[in-house]
Amino acid sequence: MLEGLPQTNNAAEALAVLIAVQKTPSRDDLTIKTDSKFVIDALTSGRRKAENTAWMLQSNRKTLEPIIATIRRRKGKTTLVKVKGHSGITGNEEADKLAAKGADQPHQQEVDIRVPNKVKVKGAELSCMTQALLYAGIRREKAGKTPPRRKATAGLDAARYAAKEKAGLTPKDETIWKSTQAKSVPNNRQKEFLWKLAHDTLKCGSFWEGKPGCEHMVNCPSCEVTETAEHTLTNCRSSGQETIWKLVNKMCEERNIPWSHPDIGTITSCGIPCIKNGETGKIRTGASRLRTILIAQSAHLIWKLRCEWRMGHRGDPAKVHTKREIHNRWVDMINRTIRFDIMAAKSKNPIRGAPRPATALHTWINTLQDDSILEDIIAGRRWRVDGVLVGILARKNEGNQARP
Ligand SMILES: [Zn+2]
Repeated sequence: MLEGLPQTNNAAEALAVLIAVQKTPSRDDLTIKTDSKFVIDALTSGRRKAENTAWMLQSNRKTLEPIIATIRRRKGKTTLVKVKGHSGITGNEEADKLAAKGADQPHQQEVDIRVPNKVKVKGAELSCMTQALLYAGIRREKAGKTPPRRKATAGLDAARYAAKEKAGLTPKDETIWKSTQAKSVPNNRQKEFLWKLAHDTLKCGSFWEGKPGCEHMVNCPSCEVTETAEHTLTNCRSSGQETIWKLVNKMCEERNIPWSHPDIGTITSCGIPCIKNGETGKIRTGASRLRTILIAQSAHLIWKLRCEWRMGHRGDPAKVHTKREIHNRWVDMINRTIRFDIMAAKSKNPIRGAPRPATALHTWINTLQDDSILEDIIAGRRWRVDGVLVGILARKNEGNQARP
């Protein structure tokens, strides 16, 4: 496959047609038999729309545009014929074999993907444009010119490494971006937090360097190192991370979910389901969802506690949250999540992002004080979810209670 082209079936099929039209002498009649509905549609019914919108919605522009340009310049007749794929048609079977062979070949085919100015359709039809399309076009144009940020690349690589270690996957950047917005991440604030974490854009440490009046924000007052998101979430003595990850550990143990103190990549890639059944090798949906919820919420809580301490109390060591307070805040947060999750699953009116009842059951089973509560709700024998649900109890009679 040529460098810079998407590595997909559609791209490979379009490339094959491009080679065919370029290798056939211009005066000869040419009949292209293909089983690719994509290529036929793109060259016939989809062509006008693609050209009218300046190819803004077409990911295979690099191959489709030169095909159209070459066909336009041909003097002979060009015919496209759709054949049925994988049905014993000799030419088609041979083509599949050649395609497989081609995929293994290290050398790149010599293909000209330039489009001569004479036959190039420039710009878009104004009457076919919408505001959304124009905006998408501007973004695409800008994206091609801006090199990726070094910090963002490092954040994504850390997430990729963690996904490799935990689930044997090597996710692409897009997969990691999408995973930060996964349905299993409980709410939009946490999605936004994970997104910022993956791109290293949370405001801390060196961000404040040289900003007048913000000198005290550069270093962690407790550990006396330059503050980073990684430090706060996984190493800091005062952010409460240790207490919170211990609680997560306890809950994971109850559910037989492998757990070790997380690194930054584990947190950013938490939306990728990775808990597998030891025997079948299949993903344990409920357990993976629980892990995602626990990591996303816990990391976000640590960050919130850090902001309260650093911004609200200007990092005063005397005003660090106590272990008891952190414990109760976490239990309270998880309780609210369980309550919302199972009530959303049971709701008669559809709620966006709500789990199915079976998914909610499989997520929270074995983590509550009394699993019968969950079963009763799912079965419709019980309608309210009161009191403390999570098996880890709030610390009482020790002074401050959790804030609402
Ligand atoms: Zn620290």
